[in-house]
Amino acid sequence: MPAAPPKWHTPEVAAVLPELVAADGRPGQAMHRLLRELYPICRSITGEGVRQTLRILGQHLPPGLDVREVPSGTAVLDWTVPPEWNIRDAYIKDQHGRRVVDFQRHSLHVVSYSVPVPPQWLTRQELDAHLHSLPAQPTLTPYRTSYYQPTWGFCLPHQLREQLQDERYEVCIDADLNPAGSLTYGQLVLPGDTDEEVLFSCHICHPSLANDNLAGVVTAAWLAQWLAARPRRRYTYRFVFVPGTIGSISWLHEHRHSAVPRIKHGLVLSLLGGPGEFTYKRSRQGTAAIDRVVAAVLREAALGAHQLRDFSPYGYDERQYCSPGFNLPVGCLTRTPFAEFPEYHTSADNPSLVRPRQLAASMRLLRLICRALEQHDRRYQNRQPYGEPQLGRRGLYGALKGTGNPKEAEMALLWVLSLADGQHDALTMAERSGLSFSAIRRAVRSLCQADLLAAL
Ligand code: ZN
Repeated sequence: MPAAPPKWHTPEVAAVLPELVAADGRPGQAMHRLLRELYPICRSITGEGVRQTLRILGQHLPPGLDVREVPSGTAVLDWTVPPEWNIRDAYIKDQHGRRVVDFQRHSLHVVSYSVPVPPQWLTRQELDAHLHSLPAQPTLTPYRTSYYQPTWGFCLPHQLREQLQDERYEVCIDADLNPAGSLTYGQLVLPGDTDEEVLFSCHICHPSLANDNLAGVVTAAWLAQWLAARPRRRYTYRFVFVPGTIGSISWLHEHRHSAVPRIKHGLVLSLLGGPGEFTYKRSRQGTAAIDRVVAAVLREAALGAHQLRDFSPYGYDERQYCSPGFNLPVGCLTRTPFAEFPEYHTSADNPSLVRPRQLAASMRLLRLICRALEQHDRRYQNRQPYGEPQLGRRGLYGALKGTGNPKEAEMALLWVLSLADGQHDALTMAERSGLSFSAIRRAVRSLCQADLLAAL
């Protein structure tokens, strides 16, 4: 007998699921499968949903995921870890006892961190003060939270809200806020040749939202697998999976004298499976190596159009990593940024919004970024620096002669030879030439093989 369809298996998802499953075999499809497994879990900034997510994620990461618990009430930087929130059930029943809004159908139906509400009858007007809907998107359920303001509420499609015409409704939120609980986060460290670190950070605090949080999480997991399989790593790579804001603040608090000073480059990863072009938001420093490397890698034509944006103190956890006391070189990599796509923070941010090919392309971009980071400051010496070396004799010169645009590969050869004076590193070569980092890297390899270039 076929398994029952998952609860999020709405008609909209069902319409595209065959395409998702058939499309793009590797690795995007496997990433998407994990995303679909994680999607129904009700996550928040604390609670069992985060632990369950990390347990499943641990099965898809290289060995060594370290899951930490920070007790509720712990002072972390200027914040305090809140009580742990867990929810078992919640509903709005009409006068016939029918669940018109049912947490069991979708975790977005309850305002995250709602205080417990024992079963009770409310008038329609009393209930309405606790309802959230989107009149402009009447078929979608919004995502709402109230972490630090004790309240409760339900989220529902506006068209359903307008159908609630009974005089009285029964409501219940079977949840608890435990002051003896804790906040959970996970981290994985892949040691390298040096203890200088590259940080990748993802938030894991959103309930059933696919592009916003899960796309970053699964992309990070596959990146960790790829890095773990590499024969050597120059840097130590640290992946942290944290609840947004309070999680990164807790992590910074606990690591401020250990890992934090070793971070040389970092990226917050989110929104990497949805629509739109890659968008890189620079670190607060603005000209850190990570900012320059990502810009140089994004010039790779196959990655398509992209956007570069300056830092602003609003967004994901780069806000914390880039706060002036830390001022870490951490940028934020997304596709269409948050709040700029209509599905953002609604039930339409479900697995049908995230496409395997988008996840796979994001993985490819991250692999290129890691390769570039590992080599960005390498310097070279031109071994034939007096006049241009005769490339044609060495089989390196193609269609450069004559009119028309010389190809990128040939321009890269000329730029590398020109700047290989021991003073310019590979990243500067990419910047001066306006070429992608990969083109510079390929030229370096060809010229080294032809004995025209020596690595310093
Ligand atoms: Zn969000």
